Amino acid sequence: MSQVSEIKCPHCGEWTLWNGNIDDRCLCCGEFLEPNRFSREVEKKIAAEVKKENDYFALKPADGPIKREVKLLLNSFRWAVYYLEIAFFIFVTILLVLLSLLAA
Ligand SMILES: [Zn+2]
Repeated sequence: MSQVSEIKCPHCGEWTLWNGNIDDRCLCCGEFLEPNRFSREVEKKIAAEVKKENDYFALKPADGPIKREVKLLLNSFRWAVYYLEIAFFIFVTILLVLLSLLAA
């Protein structure tokens, strides 16, 4: 039992029919209607952020030789920091084990 009502589309502002279903789309612009508009917007935003993060250091064919060098340098620097963090963590762990052995 679905109830058809008229609501104003949040995307294009035109009046359209809404059956109360989650995946109802606007008859005018084809965008999703309420009520899950908000979660969809957030999902889209997070996906865009993740994409941006991945693209940031990614090499593109259009990049010039200098840009390519800089990106490779930044990439290796990022990895160096990552490995340093792991090395530091292992170092601290060994130190704690040694201290507890000495204290015993
Ligand atoms: Zn619309």
